[in-house]
Amino acid sequence: MAIDPYGIRDQFPILNRKVHGNSLVYLDSAATSQKPVAVLDASRRYYEEINSNIHRGTHHLAQAATSAHEDARKVVANHLHAASPEEIIFTAGATDGINLAASALGRSGRITRGDEILISALEHHSNIVPWQMLCERTGATLKIIPVNEDGTLDQEAFERLLAGQVRVLAVTHVSNAFGTVVPVAAMTAAAKAAGALVLIDGAQAAPHTSLDLQELGADFYVFSGHKVYAPTGIGVLFGRRAILDDLPPWRGGGEMIKKVAFEKTTYNELPFKFEAGTPHIEGAIGLAAALEWIDGIGLPAVHEHEAALIRHAAEALDSVDGLHLYGPPDRMASLSFNVDGLHHYDLGTLLDQMGIAVRTGHHCCQPLMARFDVTGTIRASFGVYNTAEDVDRLAEAVAKAVTMLR
Ligand SMILES: *Cc1c(COP(=O)(O)O)cnc(C)c1O
Repeated sequence: MAIDPYGIRDQFPILNRKVHGNSLVYLDSAATSQKPVAVLDASRRYYEEINSNIHRGTHHLAQAATSAHEDARKVVANHLHAASPEEIIFTAGATDGINLAASALGRSGRITRGDEILISALEHHSNIVPWQMLCERTGATLKIIPVNEDGTLDQEAFERLLAGQVRVLAVTHVSNAFGTVVPVAAMTAAAKAAGALVLIDGAQAAPHTSLDLQELGADFYVFSGHKVYAPTGIGVLFGRRAILDDLPPWRGGGEMIKKVAFEKTTYNELPFKFEAGTPHIEGAIGLAAALEWIDGIGLPAVHEHEAALIRHAAEALDSVDGLHLYGPPDRMASLSFNVDGLHHYDLGTLLDQMGIAVRTGHHCCQPLMARFDVTGTIRASFGVYNTAEDVDRLAEAVAKAVTMLR
């Protein structure tokens, strides 16, 4: 099932450009992925051929755009093995999806004083702050599953915490900072057995591994289109139908209503109840094109390819004097490190001069950085278009930059 990374790379026009006179090595896919021609074409075709506002239009373009938008929802549902397209809510991204779930739960009256919301110390700020806001509003308490020295979650502490009044478990599938793969299936089962609702932040899993959300059993799953080769500004909140049906809407406006009168407004059915206003039509179509494109390659093959690159990178970097890798050995998507005595930002700046795009800083995970007593790390993150040559260029550039800075 080996893939041809060069054939894939050729489908990404941006990867052929030069940066500071060097050919670009793009190792920042955890922040955003680049887009293949198949997705660029789908977006362009939408505007050139069927651009129109959707739903309620009688004219041809409106109907074509509505069909394309709703077909996109079916593609997403199939890709995720959701029970039905109504379980797919289009959002602006992972952040928006978590805010939707937390806000709707807050409005539902299901969370009250004394309840606990359980998250982990690995979380992205997007999976921390909306829950803090929910706690402020309801009087619930935020509890944190601690992280072990190797960047995995402390499962014994998790078991202990579950014995409390946990109403929601919200945890990342894969850490965007360290590449840790969280055992979300087992944790979901344990949390559900304890009577909690479960939300999984799949922003770093969706581009790298196949998902079967019926099998996973989580109540909510979110991800962002722009990290899975699709446009920016589109994302998905999957929710189990029974839960979504039971939750009140969050934002009010057009599309989300059945009937509006000044005395009383009735809300639309799923999924429209949660999609107020004109949606990101082109984004949804682009997301469907991206998922079809990646499924054409096959996520298991993508995962195998990327995992080999990450292992190769970890081995190559490990020989650099004073370099420390974070996270467990079986990382997904990202590899984080620091070098003794050097600031991550200085190293990242030198790498950029050599055409290597990595990310430095706290990766929107300040509590995790505090846990490891650092202000940030250097993170190389991978996509299907990366090659062994990219890894070699990274390793050479890091070795050179370290010599220059010392
Ligand atoms: C990127 C990311 C988010 C936020 O995604 P947005 O696209 O910025 O909404 C949330 N969680 C994780 C793990 C991420 O990597």
